[in-house]
Amino acid sequence: MASVEEFRTEVRHWLKANLTGEFGNLRGRGGPGREHEAFAERLAWERHMATAGWTCVGWPEEYGGRGATLEQQVAFHEEYALANAPARVNHIGEQLLGPTLIAFGTPAQRARFLPRIVAVEELWCQGYSEPDAGSDLANVRTRARLDGEEWVVTGQKTWTSLAHESDWCFVVARTEPGSIRHRGLSYLLVPLDQPGVQVRPITQLTGTSEFNEVFFDGARTPAANIVAAPGDGWKVAMATLGFERGVSTLGQQVGFRRELEAVIERARRNGAAKDPLIRDRIARAWTGLEIIRCHALRMLDGVAAGAPGPETSIGKIFWATWHRDLGELAMDVCGADGMLAAGEPYDLDDFQRLFLFSRADTLYAGSNEIQRNIIAERVLGLPKEARP
Ligand SMILES: Cc1cc2nc3c(=O)[nH]c(=O)nc-3n(C[C@H](O)[C@H](O)[C@H](O)COP(=O)(O)OP(=O)(O)OC[C@H]3O[C@@H](n4cnc5c(N)ncnc54)[C@H](O)[C@@H]3O)c2cc1C
Repeated sequence: MASVEEFRTEVRHWLKANLTGEFGNLRGRGGPGREHEAFAERLAWERHMATAGWTCVGWPEEYGGRGATLEQQVAFHEEYALANAPARVNHIGEQLLGPTLIAFGTPAQRARFLPRIVAVEELWCQGYSEPDAGSDLANVRTRARLDGEEWVVTGQKTWTSLAHESDWCFVVARTEPGSIRHRGLSYLLVPLDQPGVQVRPITQLTGTSEFNEVFFDGARTPAANIVAAPGDGWKVAMATLGFERGVSTLGQQVGFRRELEAVIERARRNGAAKDPLIRDRIARAWTGLEIIRCHALRMLDGVAAGAPGPETSIGKIFWATWHRDLGELAMDVCGADGMLAAGEPYDLDDFQRLFLFSRADTLYAGSNEIQRNIIAERVLGLPKEARP
């Protein structure tokens, strides 16, 4: 097996050789608040990556991956971010559903779904949240019942990222009538292209639509499209969330550093860097990024040991808050210019997008308050929060 440095060099060379021509224009495109950008072209790019074996690099080879070690995966994500390569379109399939099926799926499910994720032929979205089940996910009301050889799904999901571009959704639904909270839930794989499914994009502060409402009205999926047993949905859903906080975090920080450097550069150019309060915040931002990096490395130790602990919650609070604050700093560096949009009605520049989209960072993947609850209860052993 290639050493980490050899692997890193291979990734770097491949990206340099391939992120050119039609794909060269995709550098930096499609990030948070820009997910609508060049979607078809980014899809073509990701399929091109697949033909060269650069999707699902961390998956075992028997499922179409490269069997890359943790360090190699980190190197991959860092190099990808350093090349300013476009935001991925099938990260939900690759990083969430794929590992879930590898852990819990049947051989038939793996054979049916994994190759199409590797080849980027089918895109996935995550159907967890509902209007009354966000932080309190156990309150899921979407229900499913078996009708002969099919599950019939009825209910509403919301905030479903990229559903409008996806072919399939993994849905947490209540399959045991009368069950409450974590019990009686199941994890179903539901095709979106059918009469019983309606996807409505939600317009966000950025003026774009990264996420959607998804309505299931008697939507159908084969009985075999349940992951693990009926009633095991909570266990599987939590395992999927565990895969969410993984090796890509170091790549994410390369993007953060690029944003911070752009803010510093703007402050130098427009004179904001002379303001003592701005200088102070820039220095704090730089220090915070170093702390985030150290923390992510510690978290990877936990991932390598197979059991990341409370450091995942600490890391999530820290980077989310840092990134939200960076958006505010970017606006303050711009001063009055930050309030002007170049076009009508919402043609935003990078800083404006950063400011608006990063408001969401402290919410998705578990809000700051929920992370603090986890730390309070599971780390500090404080009494559990009272439930109504
Ligand atoms: C950009 C983005 C993308 C997303 N993508 C997806 C997706 O693809 N699929 C999906 O299923 N979901 C997705 N979500 C939803 C996300 O998981 C939820 O927003 C999150 O779980 C919070 O739920 P909520 O929005 O319903 O807020 P609520 O749970 O209603 O919370 C509202 C506020 O109350 C606070 N709060 C709630 N409960 C407590 C408590 N017990 N103690 C203290 N404070 C509390 C929260 O911290 C928050 O500040 C996405 C969200 C965002 C912002």
